[in-house]
Amino acid sequence: MENAYASLIRGVGEDLGRPGLLDTPKRAAKAFQYLCKGYTEDLNTLVNGAVFPSDNDQIVLVKDIELYSLCEHHLLPFIGKAHVAYIPSGKVLGLSKVARIVDMFARRLQIQENLTKQIADAIQEVTDARGVAVVLEAKHMCMMMRGVEKQNSVMKTSIMLGLFRESAQTRNEFLTLIQS
Ligand SMILES: [Zn+2]
Repeated sequence: MENAYASLIRGVGEDLGRPGLLDTPKRAAKAFQYLCKGYTEDLNTLVNGAVFPSDNDQIVLVKDIELYSLCEHHLLPFIGKAHVAYIPSGKVLGLSKVARIVDMFARRLQIQENLTKQIADAIQEVTDARGVAVVLEAKHMCMMMRGVEKQNSVMKTSIMLGLFRESAQTRNEFLTLIQS
């Protein structure tokens, strides 16, 4: 990976020998590995038993989870927020685990559409919830820094499973909660 970064830097005509760039290939490789660390994680290890019995049968929502990912088409960041909700069917998931599930999938090469679905499916799998809702809103550097250079566009994606899909009332309750 270090060699790949060295070729990239040479490729744009830079001098790899100048002091500021000497260790850049090594640093960049380390950073990239960190941004892609989700590949080394898996759902069961991550959740590690943090699923607890509960008779709560109403919406559990974790809102405004910071989201940092890399688009798989340009390897540029997309950054935003994730809102994750589910309706328990006898068990609830430790709150920090919801954020860690978002991270596990975000720290891979992604498109926002697939990321949304992977988070929703994982929450469903872990909790057996009666419904799962995930909304992601993100700004894509590949749109802002290059190409169409649209600085203010935000991409929103959502996945609704179970009760959130079947019941307009439940879905609206969720949508109202994430707007407030
Ligand atoms: Zn892109």
